Amino acid sequence: MNDTLQLTGRHTGQIPRLTVALIRALGNTLAAGPAADRLCIVNYHRVLPVHNPLLASEPDVAAFSWQMELLARCFHVMPLRKAMAHLQSGEPIPPRSVCITFDDGYRSIHDLALPVLRRFGLPATVFVTSGHVGKGNMWNDRIIEAVQMLPDGLLDLSDLGLGTFSLHSLDDRMAAIGLLTERSKYLPPAERSNVIERLVTLAGATMTPELMLTQDMVRNLDRSGIEIGAHTVTHPILTSLDDASARAEISTGKEELEAILGKPVRLFAYPNGKVGMDFDHRHVAMVREAGFDAAFTTAVGAITRDQDHFQLPRSRPWDSSPLMFGLRLLRWLVQGRPQ
Ligand SMILES: [Zn+2]
Repeated sequence: MNDTLQLTGRHTGQIPRLTVALIRALGNTLAAGPAADRLCIVNYHRVLPVHNPLLASEPDVAAFSWQMELLARCFHVMPLRKAMAHLQSGEPIPPRSVCITFDDGYRSIHDLALPVLRRFGLPATVFVTSGHVGKGNMWNDRIIEAVQMLPDGLLDLSDLGLGTFSLHSLDDRMAAIGLLTERSKYLPPAERSNVIERLVTLAGATMTPELMLTQDMVRNLDRSGIEIGAHTVTHPILTSLDDASARAEISTGKEELEAILGKPVRLFAYPNGKVGMDFDHRHVAMVREAGFDAAFTTAVGAITRDQDHFQLPRSRPWDSSPLMFGLRLLRWLVQGRPQ
């Protein structure tokens, strides 16, 4: 067995015992001091069958597997609902506590992540965009698919105010996807649809794989002990909507999932999740009024007792070695609330 401490490079194989021992011991020491009574929430989107350079920030199933093994062996993984109950009751939070969440409701959570979670006996929560259940792909994924299919040459979107893009190499395509996603994110939904429709037309009529969960898959996740949380209906940037539309996105997303599950949905994640940019105090109040128990952002940091339960941070270590991934979680536990 390889018992050396690996710091960089793409990890393969088992997690070294020395890494596990080091993270556990350090985590226990920190939990007796600066990291006491805190927890981290790790946030994923999709899991890929194999590595895709156009989706470099998403783990493939091999990377996801070692990350889950690391959490199972080095951390105390709690269901999010139980962590919330600890925060509300004042019961101490165990050392090295972590929760696992997924945003948007990708089919790969059911097909690829669930078997791994089961193998390691790990609980998780999936925040589902209700309007995409059993329906089309999300706009950002449609950009990726279209740019992947476009022929080599110049992509001219200057009439849509988005400029021109040279598409010759893989790097060109990655850059175009990044820029188009960023520039489209804050557009009004109708303008964004125009951009997507243009790209899809230019790319040619292609069969795109269905990426999102079906109703049966949502129910099956729930039956498998995976908690389902809400994430609005269409994943808008809430600050780009008027108050009535934002309120409807928040409450209808909850109701549609409750109709699928036949039970209350208690947890909410803000689309995109940047505090003050993607949502503000109005939306925090709307989420409270809609009957949720807690809500989650994408700020980097740990949860401490003194935080607003409707703006709790979540983040994911980006490290490619188990040791650095684990150390980053410990660092966030020491750092505490987002800065
Ligand atoms: Zn999302």
